[in-house]
Amino acid sequence: MDTLEADVVVVAAGASGLAASIAAAEGGAKVIAFEKGSTTGGTGNMGMGPLGIESRHTRAKNFKPTKDEAFEIFMDYTHWRVDAKLVRAYLNKSADTIRWLEDMGVEFVEPASYFATAYPTWHLVKPTTGRPGPMASGTMMKIMTDRAKELGVKINLQTPAEKILKEGSQITGVIGEDKSGNPVQVNAKAVIIATGGFGDNPQMVKKYTGYELGKDMYSFRIPGLDGDGIRMAWEAGAARTEMTMEMIYNMPDHMSLPPQLHQAFRQPHLLVNLQGERFLNEAIMPNATFTGNAIAIQKDRCAFTIFDEDIKKQMESDFDFRDFVFPVTLFENADDTIKGVLAQGYPHLFIADSLEELAKKTGIDYEGLSKTVETYNQACVKGYDDLFNKAHRYLRPLKTPKFYAGRHFASAYGTLGGIKINHKTEVLDKNWDVIPGLYAAGTDACSIYGDSYVFILPGNTMGFALNSGRIAGENASEYIKTIGQ
Ligand SMILES: Cc1cc2nc3c(=O)[nH]c(=O)nc-3n(C[C@H](O)[C@H](O)[C@H](O)COP(=O)(O)OP(=O)(O)OC[C@H]3O[C@@H](n4cnc5c(N)ncnc54)[C@H](O)[C@@H]3O)c2cc1C
Repeated sequence: MDTLEADVVVVAAGASGLAASIAAAEGGAKVIAFEKGSTTGGTGNMGMGPLGIESRHTRAKNFKPTKDEAFEIFMDYTHWRVDAKLVRAYLNKSADTIRWLEDMGVEFVEPASYFATAYPTWHLVKPTTGRPGPMASGTMMKIMTDRAKELGVKINLQTPAEKILKEGSQITGVIGEDKSGNPVQVNAKAVIIATGGFGDNPQMVKKYTGYELGKDMYSFRIPGLDGDGIRMAWEAGAARTEMTMEMIYNMPDHMSLPPQLHQAFRQPHLLVNLQGERFLNEAIMPNATFTGNAIAIQKDRCAFTIFDEDIKKQMESDFDFRDFVFPVTLFENADDTIKGVLAQGYPHLFIADSLEELAKKTGIDYEGLSKTVETYNQACVKGYDDLFNKAHRYLRPLKTPKFYAGRHFASAYGTLGGIKINHKTEVLDKNWDVIPGLYAAGTDACSIYGDSYVFILPGNTMGFALNSGRIAGENASEYIKTIGQ
């Protein structure tokens, strides 16, 4: 067996693990990282950027919120059911972390808000080529990986960690397996867990959140996110937290759909459940978390956006809602696009000559649907939606065949929570005492949102990953100076 010596072992080199490795190495620690994948970055490669509050970018534009306002927004939103000191520590550090990343060479464009009622806290990474878009944050992961290596961090790829080693209450290292299947042990005084949650582990998702992947939950499944770190921490005595999905909504396999079709079904058209009833003010659909929540409590956790020929024609010249991730502004080549997707046998898109036929094809109750459409069309004529007060400008009647429907399901960016930490990211045991030398960061330890992702302050999970990782690295490097001398 290979046995190596370090001050701090970081379990994983995703967004939080890289931040932890760099911060610990900057604090003078000798750092070794275990990474299961063949590349670094994890889910951190997928997105567009982290949150920053009162960064130099937001201050230059006088963008709100301030740190104090952000803290109040956060705690109001979560009803104070979350660790206020951890939230405060994270938000207060976030501007400095943006600067820290810029000092490494990461570039950000002007901060954005994900949707109109969110705050512009989302610091979009400028990729090496092209505009900020999906996977732009991969550029940041690459820069962070280079910085970690420059500081002497040894990153062992394709080397999953398996067990945290402990003697009495003292953390002594980590054991894992290299790509040839040989055991690797790293002896260290401190361990930081950062394995990104359990989003690709159907059993854990079912057991801890109640969802069935591919049946009533169509989330992003990032290979390797099997809940390893959570399991290892629990085995080492860590207390558990609530575990949830980072809820959004989507048509299944949406990344392979033409973006203009995907966006056409995310506009504020009539949205009904299998009973044919409305259950949401469709104007709030850009808040994907709220919409996901509402869909998740419908029958079979699905819902259908429906529009008619006239609405389709309007979308051919403009969409109501624009999206940063998929920056399409209209339903280009609508007929050909729909035809193409249907020809591929995509099972969540429907087209019919009548509402009755649409009900048959989708499984929506026809009686329910026809009543809803009648009432909805009356509301469109009146100009007032007395059911949910949807804004007048989005009230468009459904009367001109053909009718189109897209089926949405609850979806998620990943999972949230598992390991109980305090505001210093120290892992707590079942007595809520600190397990000396054990830290956790990122998604494995992210239980600061309560029941719903705080999407109104966008960039939140990557922001938490980077900031909690950095806090963990700083504290671990300080901790090792205090023991064993
Ligand atoms: C499509 C998409 C877009 C997103 N966009 C954004 C965005 O713009 N802004 C935002 O705030 N958030 C975004 N997110 C979420 C954000 O990327 C994650 O919250 C963040 O990356 C979590 O960081 P992490 O370090 O906890 O996990 P990850 O970044 O996923 O890293 C976990 C790492 O652990 C490794 N690992 C797992 N098990 C082991 C083991 N046993 N041993 C060693 N290594 C192991 C994995 O291989 C992986 O590299 C997005 C997510 C998705 C899916």
